[in-house]
Amino acid sequence: MLNRRDFLKGSAFGIAGITGAVALAGCASAPQGQQSAAQNPTDAGAEERTGLQATAEAAQNTEARKVSLVEFEADVAPKVTETKECDIVVLGSGAGGLGAAVKAAQLGAKVILLEKGSELGGSTNGTEGMFGWGSSLQHETDGVELPLVAELIQDELTYSNYRIDAALWNRFINASGKSVDWLRDLGYQFDRVDVYKGQISAFKCYHWWAEEKGSTMIAHLADVAAGLGVEIITQAPGVALMTEDGKVAGAYAHNVADDSYFAVKAKATIVGTGGFGLNNALIEQLTAWDMTYGTTRSPGTGDGVIMAEDVGAGTYMTSILPRTAVEGYTVYDEIAIGCCDNPLLFVNENGDRFMNEGTYVTSYMALYVNSIISQKHAYTLFDQAMIDRFMNGEGILSGWRKYKAGAQLPEFQSQLDECLSSKRGNVFKGDTVEDLAKAMGVDPANLKATVDRYNKLCTDGFDEDFLKGAEFLIPVQTGPFYAVRQDPSVTNTIGGLDVNYNNAVVDVNGEAIPGLYCVGVDACKLYKETYNYAMSGGLVGYCLYSGLNAAEHACEEALA
Ligand SMILES: Cc1cc2nc3c(=O)[nH]c(=O)nc-3n(C[C@H](O)[C@H](O)[C@H](O)COP(=O)(O)OP(=O)(O)OC[C@H]3O[C@@H](n4cnc5c(N)ncnc54)[C@H](O)[C@@H]3O)c2cc1C
Repeated sequence: MLNRRDFLKGSAFGIAGITGAVALAGCASAPQGQQSAAQNPTDAGAEERTGLQATAEAAQNTEARKVSLVEFEADVAPKVTETKECDIVVLGSGAGGLGAAVKAAQLGAKVILLEKGSELGGSTNGTEGMFGWGSSLQHETDGVELPLVAELIQDELTYSNYRIDAALWNRFINASGKSVDWLRDLGYQFDRVDVYKGQISAFKCYHWWAEEKGSTMIAHLADVAAGLGVEIITQAPGVALMTEDGKVAGAYAHNVADDSYFAVKAKATIVGTGGFGLNNALIEQLTAWDMTYGTTRSPGTGDGVIMAEDVGAGTYMTSILPRTAVEGYTVYDEIAIGCCDNPLLFVNENGDRFMNEGTYVTSYMALYVNSIISQKHAYTLFDQAMIDRFMNGEGILSGWRKYKAGAQLPEFQSQLDECLSSKRGNVFKGDTVEDLAKAMGVDPANLKATVDRYNKLCTDGFDEDFLKGAEFLIPVQTGPFYAVRQDPSVTNTIGGLDVNYNNAVVDVNGEAIPGLYCVGVDACKLYKETYNYAMSGGLVGYCLYSGLNAAEHACEEALA
């Protein structure tokens, strides 16, 4: 029974590390970054290649192509040694692509799915659950009270400065429970529906995967796909879209195992290649992020976006599922846990404090990143007493998953020392605050004034300047002193290709490109700025929704 309830805002939540994956075939990894100079669109001869239009669009991707697997149709077509035929070809096997393949097969289409890797599932394997509103599981579960769809949309509008498409949110939220039910009807058993870890979202819309692992859902869908006759080919990245008579007529693929090329002719093509977190050129082109020191956890190289741009697709400025990290380390390393996930004292390149460092805790891993990247550089500043606390005292002030508040970080000092000895230029040390300032290249008097002011606020127990919670006000006074630079880190890119409400890819004029659809994060236009953790699992929820939506419309087109 769903009742209207007051919608609580402003909570925070978390996401999973990538865990298991579904092994289907082969063992070699797909090659990365194999573009040659011949594929550079500015080279002589590039104008002669086939394609719907978009030479100018493709030209912008000169750098982006270098880390992708994408080739030009004119280059790849002559290398083809085999041509397969089907109704619908799908590129990518995450929640978006595999969901689309199964749905299309259910609707009677002959489907071929191409997957770049040797395993299915992509980033989806590492997720913990998905958003759903109005699912049968929610109806069956005691104590589930849901807000109105309109209340959820209003929260997203407020969060995003009204720069999002509320009509798209309306479609997505209303369909999200049906996506959950679709999986259940296929025999997949969710673990439960609940809030996300008790603190992040204020309402019970988080549908936890079995074992809290997206890989269980992928494995289930892979079995269903096999039963429906979907031909799944792993280690076979799509490298270009096939064009014919003004429409997309399939895709070209590289068979990594024997280094051959084949073509898949199809009446509709669905792209779901998982974003471009590994493609700094695309990130800088399509977002406001400076990736000079940026890091990523996403495996996406932007293949789908580049392939579609080659046939004239429009792009959509994307959002980022954001974090910060310490250069040279992953977000799971202790130096990053201590310096990025803990509300210590943050200063900018001038030595000024600039934010409520507790924002990480209250908005989880999202909004605080906006404050960090609004500065030229942001440093976490702390003293030896904090290091001792982290290593063998009360532990960290805040954290998640393995590193909850109170966890100790035994490697913290040695990782700091490694950074200092590497002279990478992102960690600094001084016996006094003034010495630290000199090492950082900051005005010593200014940094000293900042630290003195911060210590006074700590003594007062009230952060008059930025309203950080009193529990996080710990003075910085026992040398030596350290500063560690926090850099942006991409968990996932969100969006890239412009699509309409049918998940058909549209050109720069907003006209649907015949025969081409896009799903998953490549197509996600829900967010314009920063991912909102208050709607837990919204990303995978969208990936599945878009897969089902695209499959329905692609089948209408392909099976007409
Ligand atoms: C650590 C982590 C945890 C997360 N946890 C959550 C969570 O709990 N809930 C949530 O909602 N979101 C979560 N997210 C975000 C979520 O993972 C993604 O939004 C979602 O899984 C993306 O699905 P997708 O189908 O778009 O792409 P993916 O699942 O990444 O699948 C894309 C697939 O396409 C393949 N591919 C790439 N290029 C080609 C090519 N040229 N040809 C053929 N195949 C290709 C890839 O190999 C991959 O298998 C998390 C992200 C990360 C990184």
